Amino acid sequence: MSSVQPAETKTPRKYQLLIDGKWVDAESGKTFLTPNPATGETLAEVAEADKADIDKAVKAARRAFEGKWSKISARDRGRMLYKLSQLIEENSAELAALETADNGKPIKESSYVDLPQVAENFEYFAGWATKIEGETIPVPGQMFNYTLREPVGVCGQIIPWNFPLLMAAWKLAPALAAGNTVVLKPAEQTPVNAMELGKLIEQAGFPEGVVNIVPGYGETAGAALAAHPGIDKVAFTGSTEVGKLVAKAAADNLSKVSLELGGKAPNIVFADADLEQAVNGAMMGIFFNQGQVCCAGSRLFVQEDVNPMDKATHMGPQVSEEQLNRIKGYVDIAQKEGATVVSGGVSPKLEGAFQKGYFFQPTIFSDVKNQMRVAQEEIFGPVVSVIGFRDEDDLIKQANDTIYGLSAGLWTKDITRAHRFAKEIRAGVIWINTYNMFNAASPFGGYKQSGYGREMGKHALEMYTNVKSVWVDLSGKPIGWFGN
Ligand code: NDP
Repeated sequence: MSSVQPAETKTPRKYQLLIDGKWVDAESGKTFLTPNPATGETLAEVAEADKADIDKAVKAARRAFEGKWSKISARDRGRMLYKLSQLIEENSAELAALETADNGKPIKESSYVDLPQVAENFEYFAGWATKIEGETIPVPGQMFNYTLREPVGVCGQIIPWNFPLLMAAWKLAPALAAGNTVVLKPAEQTPVNAMELGKLIEQAGFPEGVVNIVPGYGETAGAALAAHPGIDKVAFTGSTEVGKLVAKAAADNLSKVSLELGGKAPNIVFADADLEQAVNGAMMGIFFNQGQVCCAGSRLFVQEDVNPMDKATHMGPQVSEEQLNRIKGYVDIAQKEGATVVSGGVSPKLEGAFQKGYFFQPTIFSDVKNQMRVAQEEIFGPVVSVIGFRDEDDLIKQANDTIYGLSAGLWTKDITRAHRFAKEIRAGVIWINTYNMFNAASPFGGYKQSGYGREMGKHALEMYTNVKSVWVDLSGKPIGWFGN
């Protein structure tokens, strides 16, 4: 636990909404408090957006989309994104400290994982702004047919609390590179860095209304954003349950939707794996970010006689008391289903500033069958179910026997088997002899109920552009269908 330092929370920070380039109070005047999950102390008081504020933000984004933003060249959009990536790098120490204070993740993770990837995403998509191109189509006759790739329009983006700033980057960078405007709703648990990012976005020179940031609650602000008729595209990351609500709300307007939802990833250790590598990977797969990762390797399939869990690790607190209680609930459920706690299963007893923190020990269950709830439902905490297997055919059935399909890990020295499994597992990302690898250039997203659409890489741009087909007559003659 030593890597988490108590944050400076003596004077809570204050944040307003960012709408149309102005920092404003919520129409209702309401605010909410966000605590530091390591200590329970208030980190910030934040204006609470609701339906009226969402409406204002969507209208501002529409004005910006049809006004100034549409007149700015692709090159200048790219330059602003690049400038933003540089500002993030310049401010990364402060942003990392705030990410840790708001979310609870150890400063090592904020500093060496989150912040570099945030900057990388803006830098990567800065390059794309000038490379979003149409095509010419070889149609028959005296016709010229070409396509234009155009921005979708106003995007409503709803993000979770597990990687607060990184999720904002995954959503904002491709949307802005493609020329869209955005209304972003951060999670109620972790709004702080989204607001700080808003300040940097202003400094980077984006015109007013291009990015509007409206923290608030999911049931009010989030729901209003998903259902707003002025939104052309909704992008959501979070639970599968809420993802379905978002898709239903957007369906009334036939807004485009992309969803990055939950997972219950199989992480498979074959007996021939390099065990040191596999043990490291199994721990990284589940305990990284306190287990609060959609692609966490929470089902650890281990071939007979392999015991990969024998090292200690350093953990931060869970993001909230609600999340902590949810994890405890699953530990009870698992034990009632017949699973055995091999290690962890409780909150540690901590002294001083951390007494009220939302900590939970890394937890390993054995005697788990794949049908049990602990193996089927997303816990979103540092809880791994170890499931034995002998037969490869049975393994692939079990690995795919889940409503989810976000990611999977494989540990083996057998290259043929590795690629065969990579093909057979129904998931959007496969890691072979590694885990949790991400890059701004590489697509990420799910199969099945883990959602649809891809984040990062050129595939992300597909979600943020429309294709327009343009036909031009080259003959100069009438069509002649009705004579002449
Ligand atoms: P949610 O899916 O509820 O939250 C994700 C985002 O959606 C937040 O910004 C939230 O707002 C917002 N939201 C909530 N309800 C609505 C709604 N009706 N309409 C529109 N937006 C809404 O996840 P939770 O934070 O509640 O976590 C619950 C579980 O979800 C976790 O235990 C985990 O299993 C899963 N999860 C998965 C994530 C992933 O990356 N796939 C990320 C986070 C959670 P707000 O929080 O501000 O109320």
